[in-house]
Amino acid sequence: MITVIYKNQKIQLDEKDSLGTGGEATVIKANNLAFKIYHVSSPEKILKLKDFISSNFDLPDNVARPFDLVYDLKSEPIGFTMPIAKKCKEMIHLSNKKYRTQEQIDTNSIIKVFSHVKETLEKIHSNNLVVGDFNDLNALFNQNFLSVFIDVDSYQFGKYPCPVGTDQFIDPNLYGVDLTKKPSFSKQTDWYSFAVMFFKSLLFVHPYGGTHKTHQTLYDRAQNKIIVFDKNVIYPKMGLNPNCLNDELLNFFETIFKKAKRIDIPSSKFKELENSFEACKSCGLFYHKDRQQCPDCHKLKPQQNVDISQIIITKNIDEDKCIVENIYQTEGAILFTKVIDKTIYVIELINSNTFLHKFSDQKVSTLLWKQNLKNVRYEIFKNYLLVGSENDLMIFEISANSITPVTKTVTFMFDNVPMFGCSENKIYRLSDSSLATGEILHKNLFESILMQTLENQTWFKVGNPDIGCGFFRIFKDYHYFIFSKKGRFELDLPVLDGKIIETEAEFSINTILLLRKTLYKGRTWSHYHIIDDEGKIIDTKSEESLNSELLRTLSGKILVGSSIVHPSDAGIVIEKHKQLTLKKETSNYISSNDRLFLYKDGMLAVSDRKIIFIKLIK
Ligand SMILES: [Zn+2]
Repeated sequence: MITVIYKNQKIQLDEKDSLGTGGEATVIKANNLAFKIYHVSSPEKILKLKDFISSNFDLPDNVARPFDLVYDLKSEPIGFTMPIAKKCKEMIHLSNKKYRTQEQIDTNSIIKVFSHVKETLEKIHSNNLVVGDFNDLNALFNQNFLSVFIDVDSYQFGKYPCPVGTDQFIDPNLYGVDLTKKPSFSKQTDWYSFAVMFFKSLLFVHPYGGTHKTHQTLYDRAQNKIIVFDKNVIYPKMGLNPNCLNDELLNFFETIFKKAKRIDIPSSKFKELENSFEACKSCGLFYHKDRQQCPDCHKLKPQQNVDISQIIITKNIDEDKCIVENIYQTEGAILFTKVIDKTIYVIELINSNTFLHKFSDQKVSTLLWKQNLKNVRYEIFKNYLLVGSENDLMIFEISANSITPVTKTVTFMFDNVPMFGCSENKIYRLSDSSLATGEILHKNLFESILMQTLENQTWFKVGNPDIGCGFFRIFKDYHYFIFSKKGRFELDLPVLDGKIIETEAEFSINTILLLRKTLYKGRTWSHYHIIDDEGKIIDTKSEESLNSELLRTLSGKILVGSSIVHPSDAGIVIEKHKQLTLKKETSNYISSNDRLFLYKDGMLAVSDRKIIFIKLIK
């Protein structure tokens, strides 16, 4: 608890009500407001805030502007209040293909969000305010595809600079500029950041993404204006066919990123884009109706294969052969996959119906529901299906070709995601201020407390056999833990600078791979630790995310002992004690966006629409 003074009243801020924390401040909910409290308050920040508040800018409600100053008990200003952004997600989710598949967010919805972002940005600009550090973590969207702008206290106005810019979104014209000295951003640099976010959400690639033989970093590519469509760039496998956009949009992006002109799409043109994309009836790709036919199904020439020599990930290239078997291919979308022993469970959405498929000796399919449930998480263990939706956790028994409700319980969320997991035999969930584990007996859940955590502030993940890892957050401090058959252990991890923006974990029988992504002074970093089942750290690595072939995406990997198996566009890469070996023969079958699972004497690679089995042989 901390006590602050707001509008001459004492207010208690509870660590359980934290909404998030970053390098600069923690945001806590109280009295239906968000209290942003700086870790270290400075006279410059407070002066800027006072000027912002007294300027009475005419901003729309979806801009979370500072309302009033907040003081400590010695009457020193330490932060401010602002409106709470309810049920919103960061825009970064819109360029995440897995999230987009799961939530079935199509291109027309992207147009809708960005149309609202554009409208809002114009209103901000009409006040002579500039967003400055405009990025996909401080722009949010809600369920109606309307935008919300946060971190408004960092906006540039008058003599006040916006002191930071984010690697992927900052205009290359500002590379190397000391942003703290004087106001350097402009309306044009905001439109540049807008165009990057829009591009990423339309095609799932950065305008300067992909791999180039000589210009290897994004900075280098941006400075040399070599865009992802350049003939010397290997286009990421995850990226959509650019011809799903119309020529007008492609020209707009080329003007900005190739010709380096800072233009903006006129509002009338944006209006025309609304609902102008339709789904291909055979492959599901959304393409602009100007195109007449689906660019993926009517390709003029076969897609280029990845030229392995140009991918700069590894020194060892392995000539091992591989055997590949198609397990499943669908026109629908794969929402969830789990392997238990030799059985594969798949939850799939097809024609707005959600199915559960079980692949063992034969395929058995069960219709779960005649709709797509949004914002849910699935888990499967033994013969039970778990469905988490906000704080509700429903448990169903899976029988021959139907499911029967067994029981219902609750859990807490972290960042709006319901937290629960399961091992082979047990369910794990959050209950009040503890992590509970239980089994189902006679249709009832029998539980015991595994450990104390903090309500609303706990993230965790579980593997087999009953091995897990997580953290709870007390204001700005993260407390990491693991549990295994050997007990519960606190982790002594180095404190990372900046804001943690993503956490993932994978498990082997007795080791844990903890992956984290941080944003610090505008640059994104990926970190991993391999940890044994007593909490001892075996291996650690940190890389800048943008230039990392293997750690740009944290999910989808397999851990075997102390080796990590990464999916990449060049094929499977095995990392052992930081030595990388590329299994070149797998390059035609794998993409960096796949999820890998151990299966029989090989592995499964799961993409949005396909499951294959890969076995490596000498
Ligand atoms: Zn098609």
